[in-house]
Amino acid sequence: MNEKITDVLIMGSGPAGYTAAIYAARAGRSVKIISGFEPGGQLMITSSIENYPGFAEGISGPELMERMKQQVEKTGAEIIFDSIKSVDFSRKPFVCIGDSGEAYKSKVVIISTGASAKWLGIPGEEKYRGAGVSACATCDGFFFRNKNVAVVGGGNTAVEEALLLTNFASSVTLIHRRDKLRAEKIMQDRLLKNPKINVMWNTTVSEILGNGTKVTELSLIKNEVNVSKAIDGVFIAVGHQPATSIFNEQLKIDGNGYIITPEANTSTSIPGIFAAGDVCDPNYRQAIISAAKGCMAALDADKFLSR
Ligand code: NDP
Repeated sequence: MNEKITDVLIMGSGPAGYTAAIYAARAGRSVKIISGFEPGGQLMITSSIENYPGFAEGISGPELMERMKQQVEKTGAEIIFDSIKSVDFSRKPFVCIGDSGEAYKSKVVIISTGASAKWLGIPGEEKYRGAGVSACATCDGFFFRNKNVAVVGGGNTAVEEALLLTNFASSVTLIHRRDKLRAEKIMQDRLLKNPKINVMWNTTVSEILGNGTKVTELSLIKNEVNVSKAIDGVFIAVGHQPATSIFNEQLKIDGNGYIITPEANTSTSIPGIFAAGDVCDPNYRQAIISAAKGCMAALDADKFLSR
């Protein structure tokens, strides 16, 4: 049992968590970051980031996160590899229980647990996960060298995944349920110009079929007509789900699972608990905004502790 009470406990080690740690530690507060089981968060599976200011040539997600981590370590904040599985925000100090069994006590908590990929929930998806079904081209694209793959979705993630997959696959089919992409214009242009990529508009996937060990085919509905497509792998890129299940009973959460915070600051429904990053952002979901919100959360936390 850890009897020491930390000033600021930060859950999550993406741009929001790391930035909050840098600001809180530099304000003279004792800071612990509980990294979660995927330290660095979603950017760890992002190949190239071209819109984060300061990196004119672009930077890979893992490298950006490594640099943020090093900056955190310089401040003296402690990064702990653990994942919070339950919280008690009804008493002070707040108590967060780690998967390790450790009880972390703190005066303030900053929640920056991020979000994770959503799935379609169709037959075959779970059965063939890791056997042709993936939500991460950076992680699994390599296994589809000279194969035919599909990507489902029409946002920036889907377009990025499709472009990345052209480095490995012989053909990439982007399957989108509408006739317009949601992705940024510059990304759309790159996608539509790429000779390896074909887009199937107005198409949904109804089932993922396989031979028992790996994916072989997709059942599709295109313009209300059932069609099938032979495929070796399918990458699902249909948005994200915020990681808030452990807070459901204690904090105000919206209908889509996001922690509710006001526009002007990072407070939640419990004084002393703050939230930053994708866990409370259904709209922008950008690394730069998560970092900025992490900064706000640390400043809000510092003000709260000074009261
Ligand atoms: P988005 O919510 O932007 O896009 C999700 C896509 O999946 C949409 O095209 C949506 O279709 C489609 N979709 C959702 N549910 C289903 C379903 N059940 N069946 C079929 N299709 C479905 O999510 P992203 O993950 O792409 O991006 C999230 C945020 O992260 C965005 O703000 C994006 O800009 C940002 N991002 C930025 C990057 C960058 O700047 N480099 C990289 C990656 C993401 P429809 O369009 O019809 O709603």
